[in-house]
Amino acid sequence: MSTGTLTVDLDAIAANWRALDAMSAATVETAATIKADAYGLGVGPVARALAQAGARTFAVAVAEEGAALRDAIGPGPAILVYSGHMAGDTDMIGDLDLTPMLNSVEQMTRHVEALPGHPLGIQLDSGMNRLGMEPEEWAAVRHIALRLKPKLIMSHLACADEPDHPMNAQQLQQFGEMVADTGVPSSLSATGGILLGSQYHFDMTRPGIGLYGALPFEAAQPVARLSLPVIQTRELEEGEPVGYGNTWIAEASTRIATLSAGYADGLIRAMSNQAVLFADDEPCPLVGRVSMDLITVDISHLDREPRQLDILCSKQSVDDLAEAAGTIGYEMLTSLGARYTRRYTGGGA
Ligand SMILES: *Cc1c(COP(=O)(O)O)cnc(C)c1O
Repeated sequence: MSTGTLTVDLDAIAANWRALDAMSAATVETAATIKADAYGLGVGPVARALAQAGARTFAVAVAEEGAALRDAIGPGPAILVYSGHMAGDTDMIGDLDLTPMLNSVEQMTRHVEALPGHPLGIQLDSGMNRLGMEPEEWAAVRHIALRLKPKLIMSHLACADEPDHPMNAQQLQQFGEMVADTGVPSSLSATGGILLGSQYHFDMTRPGIGLYGALPFEAAQPVARLSLPVIQTRELEEGEPVGYGNTWIAEASTRIATLSAGYADGLIRAMSNQAVLFADDEPCPLVGRVSMDLITVDISHLDREPRQLDILCSKQSVDDLAEAAGTIGYEMLTSLGARYTRRYTGGGA
């Protein structure tokens, strides 16, 4: 087998969900955001593990993801769709019992005409200017919307990973005004907002990234391990180059291992000459450019021929690797390629 192995610890995901759930009052429901194939980790096993841990509401970005999720978990749990009810979504929403978070009057009209009586939620814009109805729009249609008995009214924080940012308090106030006296459960916070404190929790939180072991949830348990097989090793003499563009030149005799994974697998090219891999506890620098299917690593200092090296492991978190590549944990995880063999531990797997 020459593909890398992505090992996902379902017990760690369940533990992270419980830890985030424990940060809000018992009356606050903790949903689970599992869009983008559970941030690249595999929506089926992740959703089943979270349902077992006690999650009763899941959230996805688009209806297609909701359909795949319903297949994986069966009837019962609520599935919120952040993009709302788009043209072409009606059959999926109706047949698979998805709850669209309606973002506009247009979506609201589409929903009630196509699926009268079907569950719905409302998404409001509290200042991020990305999705949801604006305060003025909401004021105008609120009385109509509330007659449709929405299951949830939600909004999203733009700066929750910066606790001192004044935007947090501004959005809190704006959202609080918009949901006041509606009698409908409300939700403002994802992972970052949970950490901001109880006034941000309302009736439901919707963590994603924290479940998967990354910042801003510093106390998260690590979830992913990524091991890449060594295809070949070779000895270089001083002055020999490695990889496309000759961007790395051996300064002394060097042993290079060529590993099976590249930018097509989410090891973005910005990691070239930056990232580090691990042979157990020993760091080994990635040298030369990342190519589509391969990376090259300096293993001169190892006293053995490794069969594989780890790029995500106890020595290097998703956020460590993201930093080396100049990005964030979210992008690192959701870039993890389809070629890896995904293995699951725990969670009854
Ligand atoms: C992605 C997303 C979440 C989850 O955010 P995290 O930062 O990953 O916890 C919650 N709500 C909305 C609207 C989102 O788009």
